Amino acid sequence: MKNIPELFGSMVFSDEVMREKLPKDIYRALKKTMSQGTHLELDVANVVASAMKDWASAKGATHFTHWFQPMTGTTAEKHDSFIEPDGGGGAIMAFSGKALIKGEPDASSFPSGGLRATFEARGYTVWDTTSYAFIKDDILCIPTAFCSYSGEALDKKTPLLRSMQAVDKQALRILRLFGNTAAQRVVALVGPEQEYFLIDKEIFLKRPDLVYTGRTLFGARPPKGQELEDHYFGSLKPRVSAFMKELDEELWKLGVYAKTRHNEVAPAQHELAPIYATTNIATDHNQLAMEIMKTVADRHGLACLLHEKPFAGVNGSGKHNNWSIAADTGVNLLEPGKTPHENAQFLLFLTAVIKAVDQYQDLLRISAASAGNDHRLGANEAPPAIISMFLGEELTEILETLEAGADYKGKERNQMEIGVTVLPHFSKDTTDRNRTSPFAFTGNKFEFRMLGSSFSVAEPNIVLNTVVADILSQIADRLEKSDNFNADLAGLIKDTFRAHKRIIFNGNNYADEWVTEAKKRGLSNLRTSVDALPEFISPKSIELFSRHGVFTESELRSRYEIFMESYCKTLHIEALTMVDMVKNGIIPACIGYQNEIAELLSLKKSCGAYDASLEDHLLGSVSKLSSCLLGKLTALENTLLESKADADILTHAVFYRDRVINAMSELRLIVDELETFVAKKYWPLPSYADMLFSVI
Ligand code: ADP
Ligand code: MG
Repeated sequence: MKNIPELFGSMVFSDEVMREKLPKDIYRALKKTMSQGTHLELDVANVVASAMKDWASAKGATHFTHWFQPMTGTTAEKHDSFIEPDGGGGAIMAFSGKALIKGEPDASSFPSGGLRATFEARGYTVWDTTSYAFIKDDILCIPTAFCSYSGEALDKKTPLLRSMQAVDKQALRILRLFGNTAAQRVVALVGPEQEYFLIDKEIFLKRPDLVYTGRTLFGARPPKGQELEDHYFGSLKPRVSAFMKELDEELWKLGVYAKTRHNEVAPAQHELAPIYATTNIATDHNQLAMEIMKTVADRHGLACLLHEKPFAGVNGSGKHNNWSIAADTGVNLLEPGKTPHENAQFLLFLTAVIKAVDQYQDLLRISAASAGNDHRLGANEAPPAIISMFLGEELTEILETLEAGADYKGKERNQMEIGVTVLPHFSKDTTDRNRTSPFAFTGNKFEFRMLGSSFSVAEPNIVLNTVVADILSQIADRLEKSDNFNADLAGLIKDTFRAHKRIIFNGNNYADEWVTEAKKRGLSNLRTSVDALPEFISPKSIELFSRHGVFTESELRSRYEIFMESYCKTLHIEALTMVDMVKNGIIPACIGYQNEIAELLSLKKSCGAYDASLEDHLLGSVSKLSSCLLGKLTALENTLLESKADADILTHAVFYRDRVINAMSELRLIVDELETFVAKKYWPLPSYADMLFSVI
């Protein structure tokens, strides 16, 4: 039995390690930079760097890297060893403050969406002191932000930190209005639940589609899928259990509070949830978790699939972003309070989130947009593409009563009081659950459920923090001028709720009637990423993000280009993979099988004495489907050739969405039909059943 508290964080240059390894004044200076963002002097950085290097080398590290999160969706690292010449032909281990604080990677090969021309290749990585350095695979990793020579963000961390600042600033203004002078900071907290699939590695390697694109582009439905619902919370298979044990340990060493693990609904699907942390650390940790999941899986002869929809016909994988805001005094601002005063504050934050979600539905939808996630949103397993909010019966009733100006007659278990303000006292209802809502209030936090499993949680939280900050700033502007705080506060809650209550929907979001109802309410229904993304560069969005210093207009435009390009490229790679698989694997399989039948057929016919109806029928079917296959293959190839003609990125993306996806689906239909005819020994690909039930 391992000593978990000792193991936990053993690879992290944590606060505890800093306190132990750094001189007191240096530790204090560093803490000040961490908590208040003050400039870090080079002489302080030099001492920190040297202590980091000594600590890391003692744990076997030989290199360091600035670990960052470019717009590729994954993390990036370039390793430099600690080695320096000692002047006499030998080597010493060194790490300077300058190297710790700032790196200058050649950034020309990272997506920049036109922000940085290739001749201006310099990019900077800057140490993010609010996320701890750690050792991974004998490399000391320094979490960094990545920006261009002129200071424009080229990564996901920079705008995330800016959005955290925005929400901090505006939420503090509200707290001050409530007489809170103790809180110095408000932080956004996130606990991301991560879904994934595990399949056998040997089988994975036999599927070029999984290897190149992360999802199966072909595959007939297996006889058994998730119908029996026998996988959810089921006992773990020994290989899965061994994987999860090692995964937890690896994550614990890196200071990730891996907490909950279980089997999910689809066969071979699982979930991991850590304990929540500040948005910044939660984002870093989720990126790390996804990486470690893949490497640990590999060590167990497994492949971990993080794609949103690896298999058609069974549930895809999402990521649930549990989000709250809390003061540094430890008070969760989304926790219903015990006194009318606390409740008033809670209701104000709650209505602010309601307004933010309603007013900026499209931006939240965009933050969950990707080619992969288009397979989930709107299908019958994940929240629809329509944003709505679940509040639960009790809270909705309270707000409705306030709106009507009546007293709330609470249920007996939750006696209401009308206190000094006109706002009722209530306790949170922990029983309400609605798994179909894209944005659900779950007692003291919101659960944003639209995210795809492969996402960085940075984008959704950049949007969430900024839109909430924006509404809080409007509220603060109004209330700071008020000379009758209680009355104006009650009026504000009432008016805000009335104006934005259309976003609240406590019913079944998967039902068809909801689509009609949502339309009546005037809610957006941006079904695909291509429908959603243009809103990112609308005047409303540009004004919002610039107002809070989260994105400049050119940063937004560059991100839009990157998202759109990535959408087109993803589909292009998928289409090419299909073409390749058909030409090199499926067609030869069809020919081989037809040949075998034809030989038997001619043998039978030459004898004349045997019934050959089966062979006749089979050969007929396979050869007919094979001609169809040729037709659909040619159609896809021609469509891809046509796609090159478009210059404008939106037209290009629309073409992929409307034409390429169609051609791909038609090709898949024929291939999947063929799979049911062609003998397994000829078929080049492991089947859905082979993949989904491969881990025993
Ligand atoms: P469920 O599957 O029932 O929704 P899980 O336990 O799988 O719940 O995940 C809930 C996630 O929410 C965890 O990561 C947890 O740490 C996180 N969480 C709990 N409280 C908060 C909070 N106040 N703010 C942000 N995240 C929270
Ligand atoms: Mg969960």
